[in-house]
Amino acid sequence: MIRLFPQRGGWLEVVCGPMFSGKSEELIRRLRRAEIAGQRALIVKPHIDSRYDIGHVVSHAGAKMRAVAVSRPEDIPGLADGYDAVGIDEVQFFTPEIVLVIDVLVARGARVVAAGLDQDFRGRPFGAMPELLCRAEILDKLQAVCHRCGGPATMTQRLVDGAPAPADGATIVVGALDSYEARCRSCHEIAEPALAAPILAEA
Ligand code: ADP
Ligand code: MG
Ligand code: ZN
Repeated sequence: MIRLFPQRGGWLEVVCGPMFSGKSEELIRRLRRAEIAGQRALIVKPHIDSRYDIGHVVSHAGAKMRAVAVSRPEDIPGLADGYDAVGIDEVQFFTPEIVLVIDVLVARGARVVAAGLDQDFRGRPFGAMPELLCRAEILDKLQAVCHRCGGPATMTQRLVDGAPAPADGATIVVGALDSYEARCRSCHEIAEPALAAPILAEA
């Protein structure tokens, strides 16, 4: 495979994959390298994900870089003015306007690196990700390690009290005590709403 970066103007790189696949680590690595190269680099993330550390992107392994939490995609062009490289973490949480906003940044000549979940916990496309994957000049789909079998994981398992979450659960549950695992396709489970209901034994 030959991968060439555009020589004129801006471009979009997308880094996708399930939880624990190293998206935030990769985003931090790319933006750090841009800084080392003397470029002005900025990371933004949606405000929804600012429960842990509002001023940073923090990876599951502890890698950390300063970041600005924003509520609306429309706030990004003003913040990112004058930056050569703009990282966006958890991009799937933004409203669909993020697609046009990224177009604006790229048209201004910025290198945009957008990291996010390609699938929700059901395995369906997440938010604006399909549109971003199509528009990207450069795309990487990372794999995690399946928590069940140790194989390559491409999906995110939501667990409620240790059991697979039902398909009719909300896609985004802020502050919930649900837990998540990376799983491969064959270990990934979704509880059907009907099957999850208690079945009464006949007397
Ligand atoms: P993401 O942003 O995709 O959720 P992070 O960059 O935050 O991922 O975290 C990646 C790190 O998580 C890995 O480098 C590894 O140290 C750790 N990790 C924990 N569980 C797993 C797993 N099941 N598969 C891969 N990495 C894991
Ligand atoms: Mg992450
Ligand atoms: Zn598995």
